[in-house]
Amino acid sequence: MTRAIYPGSFDPITNGHTDIIERSAKMVDHLIIGVLTNNAKSPLFTIDERTDMIRKVTAHLENVTVEAFDGLLIDFAKKCEASIIIRGLRAVTDFEYELQMAQTNHVLSPSVDTVFLTTNLKYSYLSSSVVKEIAHFGGNVSEFVSPYIEDRIKEKLKGRA
Ligand code: ADP
Repeated sequence: MTRAIYPGSFDPITNGHTDIIERSAKMVDHLIIGVLTNNAKSPLFTIDERTDMIRKVTAHLENVTVEAFDGLLIDFAKKCEASIIIRGLRAVTDFEYELQMAQTNHVLSPSVDTVFLTTNLKYSYLSSSVVKEIAHFGGNVSEFVSPYIEDRIKEKLKGRA
C-alpha cells in the first residue's frame, strides 16, 4: 500500500492545491494532507479552520485524509508510515528551496522520497498569499478558490474589518 503526504500551510487551500491533490490521489493508495501548525508566517486561518476547509474541499476524494502536524516533516511521514512526500512546483523560483528540502529529508530518512508535480499552467501564478492579498482589497477570488473557500475568506475578513 503506497501512502503519501502532501504537506503545506494551505492558508487557505487554493485551486492550485486542489489540482495537485486530485492528481496525486490517483497515483497512491492513500494521500494524507499534512497541514503545518507551527509556521513562522502568522496565518489568516487557524489550524482547525484550515484542516476543516481542506476536508470540505476534498470530501469527494475517498482516499484522502487531512491531519494537522508540527515539527519535522520527516517525523510526520514516519508516524503516517508514508514513503512519499508530494510537492508542487510552480516556477523556477520554487525549485532551489524545494530541492534543498527534498535532499535534506532524504538524508534524514532515506526510505522517504519526494515526488514533484508540476503545476497546471492555469494555476502557475497562484498562491495562498496572492489570494489573501486580492481578497483583502475587495477583489474577486472566485477564479482561484472554491465557492466555499471564497465564503470563508469573506467571513474572516469581515470579522477583521
Ligand atoms: P508552504 O507553506 O509549504 O509553501 P503552501 O500551502 O504554500 O505551503 O503550498 C503547499 C504545496 O503546494 C507546495 O509544494 C507548493 O509548491 C504547492 N503549491 C502551492 N500553490 C500551488 C499551485 N498554484 N500549483 C501547484 N502547486 C502549488
